[in-house]
Amino acid sequence: MAERDQRYYRAFLEHHSVSRRGLFRGIFSGVKKASENEQIKQLQREHPRPPGAVEEALFVQLCQSCDLCKNACPEQVIDILESRPVITLDYNHCSQCTKCSAACPSGALASESKDIGLRPFFLKSCINCISGNCQTCVDSCPQQAITVSQKKRPELEKSKCDGCGRCRSACYVSSIEMKF
Ligand code: SF4
Ligand code: SF4
Ligand code: SF4
Repeated sequence: MAERDQRYYRAFLEHHSVSRRGLFRGIFSGVKKASENEQIKQLQREHPRPPGAVEEALFVQLCQSCDLCKNACPEQVIDILESRPVITLDYNHCSQCTKCSAACPSGALASESKDIGLRPFFLKSCINCISGNCQTCVDSCPQQAITVSQKKRPELEKSKCDGCGRCRSACYVSSIEMKF
């Protein structure tokens, strides 16, 4: 764990700080280098990563494409896309067991934040809209992020949700989609 943290913070500092040598190089290489760095910093996450994934620019630098996180996942919700792990909650949810981050040797999954970034969307077929008495998704959520009003679609408090997908697994009429 200590070894992983050291690697993570070293990579983080290399990524975020301007070294003296880098500063001089930057001055003499001009605007081109600065705009390249800006592009790297602005790298947007396009796919949900396993819980604990560091910011995308750092993640793509650190991840060794070793698949150890995928192999460690007891829920089998980690797939490999373009050589890197992504979370797929179509058939199961993430139990937040942290086995993926424990298995990762690179620091790519060393973030304190366990938010996967996916969020549930409630479809019109939600049975609560018809009968007004379903509480299944509400009861399944460990973050108490969902509320339902009588004969209305459930509502999500996004800031409480960490994208685990338990509500999607629990919904017996498949009225929840997880979107990124
Ligand atoms: S926290 Fe556990 S269930 Fe979730 S992706 Fe990682 S290994 Fe799989
Ligand atoms: S265990 Fe870490 S380094 Fe290996 S594929 Fe997963 S995120 Fe990348
Ligand atoms: S994805 Fe998880 S945290 Fe978010 S609302 Fe569903 S059960 Fe709750």
